[in-house]
Amino acid sequence: MTNDQVIIIGGGIAGLTAAALLAHEGLQVVLLEAHYQTGGCAGTFKRGQYIFDVGATQVAGFETGGIHERIFRYLGYSLPSSEVLDLACVVQLEDGSRPIHLWNDPEKWQAERAEQFPGSEKFWRLCSQIHQINWSFAKREPVLPVRNLWDFRQFFQALRPNTFLAGFLSNATVMDLLRLCSCEKDLRLKKFLDLQIKLYSQESIDRTAALYGATVLQMAQKPLGLWHLNGSMQKLSDILETSLTGDKGELLLRHKVVGLSPKSRNKPWKVDVLDHNKKLKTLYGSDVIFTLPPQCLLQIFSNPSFLPLSYCDRLMNLPKGNGAVVLYGAIDRKKLPPHCPCHLQLDINDPGSLFLSISRENDGRAPAGQATLIASLFAEVDFWNSLSSKEYQDKKQIFLDKMRKAINAYLKIDCDAWLHIELSTPRSFAKWTGRPLGIVGGLGQHPRNFGPYGLSSRTPIEGLWLCGDSIYPGEGTAGVSLSALQSCRQLMKSRGKVFNLPF
Ligand SMILES: Cc1cc2nc3c(=O)[nH]c(=O)nc-3n(C[C@H](O)[C@H](O)[C@H](O)COP(=O)(O)OP(=O)(O)OC[C@H]3O[C@@H](n4cnc5c(N)ncnc54)[C@H](O)[C@@H]3O)c2cc1C
Repeated sequence: MTNDQVIIIGGGIAGLTAAALLAHEGLQVVLLEAHYQTGGCAGTFKRGQYIFDVGATQVAGFETGGIHERIFRYLGYSLPSSEVLDLACVVQLEDGSRPIHLWNDPEKWQAERAEQFPGSEKFWRLCSQIHQINWSFAKREPVLPVRNLWDFRQFFQALRPNTFLAGFLSNATVMDLLRLCSCEKDLRLKKFLDLQIKLYSQESIDRTAALYGATVLQMAQKPLGLWHLNGSMQKLSDILETSLTGDKGELLLRHKVVGLSPKSRNKPWKVDVLDHNKKLKTLYGSDVIFTLPPQCLLQIFSNPSFLPLSYCDRLMNLPKGNGAVVLYGAIDRKKLPPHCPCHLQLDINDPGSLFLSISRENDGRAPAGQATLIASLFAEVDFWNSLSSKEYQDKKQIFLDKMRKAINAYLKIDCDAWLHIELSTPRSFAKWTGRPLGIVGGLGQHPRNFGPYGLSSRTPIEGLWLCGDSIYPGEGTAGVSLSALQSCRQLMKSRGKVFNLPF
């Protein structure tokens, strides 16, 4: 490897995607991953006969022209085996009313929402119109946020008259859209939207950018959709790894980056790494793509004065992210209700609303006749990180009991139905993914952090590019793949090359 190489830090979906794309473009690439496997928050772990998805359990962007489909087609690989969720989610509100069924078929979904939320069609139609504008704008591949002339040109050429209509809403929230449509008093609708939107935006409806929320609300329906991967979520990473190494890119597992010094004059970037034997190694490269939460830059820069003061300020003042508490369990399939959907959302006060993912028979996660069940809820990272070891163990047990009780009550199963059960907390995520305090899911899609106001993949430091779930357009495997694509386009342009991913 020469000093001309691109060093990519972090082998989650963002880092793997950036590495695979650049290696396919013929660049020398080395991907550094601290863990013994890739995937990060979209990875898996094994417990006896079960395979559990660590974080992400469903994917968007598998439809023709969707971001994962385009990337895999370009790399010359088929998408991993998967099925579209024709019932994407069943949402049970705490009021005991009939659960809301989020169908993939747009007509069925329209009929469902008309019955569940009478008088709200104006709101749904407005969201659909905003989404159409967003989607056609995104297809023209604008670069956002804009940081130089080239970025501006990409942004400008994507503008159309209707983009300005959406632009008027750039400071609006989903709550503002409800107000515009006179639906702000519909408490049931608001509760449903809060539950669903927070899964993607990390924020409530009165804090989620309208332009983001409008698109999220169309994610489950054709022509888009949500997919369930056969085998496990790791299949996504496996193919990207194969593509990377097939294109002569280098993947170094158990290589933790501990120091970064930027290039200056004729000197390249210097990246200090602890290898699998805890030996310090130094790598050199002309560009670095950093995929960890950007707050980590403040610790990882060998000398923080390398970072411009205003940029340091921006990083220091980023909003604190959410954490997650996740229960990983296994159950005899016979104990589950018949036709149990893959995903359920339960509106629960204590310990908080739960998002459940249940494996399908023969999908590779559990032996025949059994199912894995994963339940997650949002958590405050400071709370979990402030506990002594004894308090931590006690709290873990309390949360596990409460979550199990809520699931048992909803699915009408007995305590002894569980064949396996364990819990992870923000502390576990910090250990598994190296994310500070175990924050997951990016910055939150508040209008202040979204689109033109978000954190750019182009940094003020020459040769340093960012991608991952804190960078526009945000979280999820599809979101981080889009941000990886954007940073690759910018990096290629800085080398005088044009990189366009075919549609
Ligand atoms: C509970 C939960 C549920 C979710 N559900 C979904 C879902 O259903 N669908 C969906 O699309 N998304 C979901 N997400 C979000 C999604 O998983 C993430 O947005 C996405 O996987 C983030 O990818 P990333 O590459 O940006 O970051 P990460 O996955 O965090 O990857 C960063 C990588 O960097 C490595 N690393 C850290 N420090 C260092 C270091 N110093 N040196 C080298 N390597 C390092 C880590 O080990 C990790 O592999 C969920 C997330 C969570 C936590």
